[in-house]
Formats: sequence, C-alpha cells, structure tokens
Amino acid sequence: MALLVKKFGGSSVATPEKIYHLVDRVLAEKKPDDRIVIVVSAMGDTTDDLVTLAGRVSEHMPKREMDMLLSTGEQISIALLAAAFQARGQKAVSLTGPQAGIRTNANHTKAGILEVKPDRIVKALDEGNIVVVAGFQGLADTGDITTLGRGGSDTTAVAVAAGLKADMCEIFTDVDGVYTADPRVVPGARKLKEITFADMLELARLGAGVMQPRAVEYGEHTGVDIHVRSTFHNVEGTIIRRNYTLEEEKEYVVRGVTSDVNVAKIAVRGVKDTPGVAFRIFDALAKANIDVDMIVQSASAEPQKNDIVFTCQKADMADAAGVLETLKPEMGFSRVDMEANVAKVSVVGAGMLGNPGIAAGMFGALAAKNINLIIISTSEISISCLIPKDQVEVAVNAVHDHFFPKQA
Ligand code: ADP
Ligand code: ASP
Ligand code: MG
Repeated sequence: MALLVKKFGGSSVATPEKIYHLVDRVLAEKKPDDRIVIVVSAMGDTTDDLVTLAGRVSEHMPKREMDMLLSTGEQISIALLAAAFQARGQKAVSLTGPQAGIRTNANHTKAGILEVKPDRIVKALDEGNIVVVAGFQGLADTGDITTLGRGGSDTTAVAVAAGLKADMCEIFTDVDGVYTADPRVVPGARKLKEITFADMLELARLGAGVMQPRAVEYGEHTGVDIHVRSTFHNVEGTIIRRNYTLEEEKEYVVRGVTSDVNVAKIAVRGVKDTPGVAFRIFDALAKANIDVDMIVQSASAEPQKNDIVFTCQKADMADAAGVLETLKPEMGFSRVDMEANVAKVSVVGAGMLGNPGIAAGMFGALAAKNINLIIISTSEISISCLIPKDQVEVAVNAVHDHFFPKQA
C-alpha cells in the first residue's frame, strides 16, 4: 500500500478528453490498497485568461479580489476531475484549498503556505475516495482565500505530500522530466535522471518553469522526494532528491541552462554616495514585498553620486517604481529608469564550485553570438547574465551547446 500525491498541471486537464486520459491512467496504475490524492491546476490557459479579464475591468486589480478571481480556475478542474472518477465507478471527492486545510499567510497573490491540516483529506481517503485537491490556493487566518503565485500548484502538491507523509510526490506535466534546458527552446536538451533540491531550486529560481521554486524549497525542508514526469508518456522522469546517487549524474559540472524573460531592469540614478542609501531603497522595496536580484552599484556620471541598478520580476516593475517615487523627495536622487526588454540567461550546477573556466566559457559562447552583457551576477552555484530580450533564444542555445556539446 502506498500513499501517493500526484499533481497534474493545466495542460494535463485542458479538455474533457485529457481529463479522462489522466483518470484512466491513474486508475490503471493504482494498486488496490493505494491511497491517492490528486492536486490539480486550472484547465489549460484559464489562469492567463482570468488575468487578462481582470486587466480589462481594472488596471489595478486589488490583490484580494485577484485571488478571489484566480482561485475559481482550480475549482472548475477539481469538480470535473472528481466527477470523471465517479463516472468510471471510482469514489472521489473534490476539496478546495481551504477545505483541504491549506493555511497560508495573507500575502495575496504570492501567499506562502504556513501549514497543511490534512484531517479532512485523511477522512476522505479512509472512506475510500480518491481525493482531488485544488492547487494554487489556501486560506489565510483573515478568512480570505489566497493564491500561491504562478505555478503554485506544485507547492500545494509538495506541501500536501509532506503533511500526509506521503511515499512520493509526482509532478505530472507536458514534458518527460527536468532537462538541461527548456526542451521547447533547446532541441538538444537532455533529460536528467535525477537532480538535487539545491540544483533544482537554483534552476527554478532562475527561470526553469517546470517547478515553482517554493515547491522545491518545501521538498528540501520536509524531505519529500519529487518525481517530475510526463502525463502523456509512461516513461521514467526526473527524481528530485537530497543527494546524487548515480555516478553519471555526479560527473556534470553544469546541470542546466535557463532563461527568464519575466524580468525588468530598474536604475536609480544619482543617489548620494553616503552610508545607508542602499538600505533605504531595498528596505522600502522589501516592505512592499518586491523581490530584487542582480544588484549593482557603480559611480554615476555626476560627481559624488552613484547609480544603483537591480532587476525584479516584470510584474513588480510598476510597484517598484511607485515605491521609488515615494522615496525620491527625501533621498533626492535624480531619476528612475525602467527597462522591460531584458532577459536573464543562467548556468546552474553545484559542480561549478571550484571549477575555473565556467564563467569564461559562458561569456565566450555569448560573445561568439555578439550578445552584449548588461549585468553579470554570480552565486556559489550559478552565473547569470542580463541580455537584450530579443537575443534570449540564441543565447540559451549557444550556452547550452558550449556546456553540452552535440553528441555525434
Ligand atoms: P504545468 O502546467 O504542468 O505546471 P508548466 O508549463 O508550468 O506545466 O511547466 C512545464 C514546462 O516547463 C514545459 O512545457 C517546459 O517548456 C518548461 N521548462 C522550462 N525549463 C525546463 C527544464 N529545464 N526542463 C523541463 N521543462 C522546462
Ligand atoms: N493555475 C495556476 C497558474 O497557472 C497555478 C498552476 O498552474 O500551478 O499559475
Ligand atoms: Mg507549472
């Protein structure tokens, strides 16, 4: 007997036919005593469509109302999925995030899971149900429904698996596993048999959309192994776990190449060259819940002044500009420039620690394509370059070809 949490993304439930495909697959693989919880996303592009709809009604959709709206997408898919199981003669019940005991903070549109109280899921399993839980949503202590940020159903699945002490958390998606680059962008990308939480977290954080970063963090903290695999092909996917266990996997220095086009560059020009300036800027941004990355300070064209340049999510660009405008009168910097036509390309791998030449290899591959590097930043296990957005596909392919040369 196994307790399994299986998460299906939007493309896996995009149509009634796909819903039945997944229902039949789950039932075919289910052993008689298996206890199964399914976490599901909204059908197809539903969440994108709801975001567009919100924009047509209000330019500044209040975040609480955005959550009220977006959470409806998953509510559609849980009802249809539970009904499809029942139509096949399998007992099943749908639960929203709040009904499933997913408690979050009140940080609307980016809420974090505080706790999963799985009593109701356990009761429904004891009664012989397959339990279908809405991904991407939870309940704050204010009594309001929240959502967990785009891609948040992954995090629901891992949190539910941890809360239930499940044997495995399977993330079913529209590719066969985690690859050395997005296989839709880099045709020669290779599927990894396994990857550590640390490498996967860095890949996800730097743009590999196959897993939400918080889901990987949750897996690491709670020790839940994650199997990323295809909904449509019955093949082994990629196991995300604490340590590498396969010799061939240990050999890779670079584990993957990613890109992120959802970034914006913000430059605060002409800030005074005195202590506390960076603190005031980044403290105000942090208080507004804006994540920043790639921070660079350099001497300004004006004497005794600096420019502070950083990147943030494109979705946060307007909020960041608003925060900086409020600081301008007291701090007296000259202006704020914003640029959305940028992209970040990164290489990731814990193996690069102590391996000289990785950065040079990456820069060389980009230089050979005549790509200008706007900002460079490094962590212990990654190197990222901000480049013009229209060159991102060429860049990712060039860097991938350098580290994973095409095999004859
Ligand atoms: P789901 O709807 O199942 O959650 P997502 O679209 O969120 O699916 O994630 C799957 C997509 O992630 C793939 O279609 C692929 O284009 C993209 N992706 C980006 N980087 C990678 C990578 N390194 N390995 C696999 N897929 C990746
Ligand atoms: N439906 C949500 C989204 O599109 C959550 C998810 O798919 O994981 O972001
Ligand atoms: Mg996803």
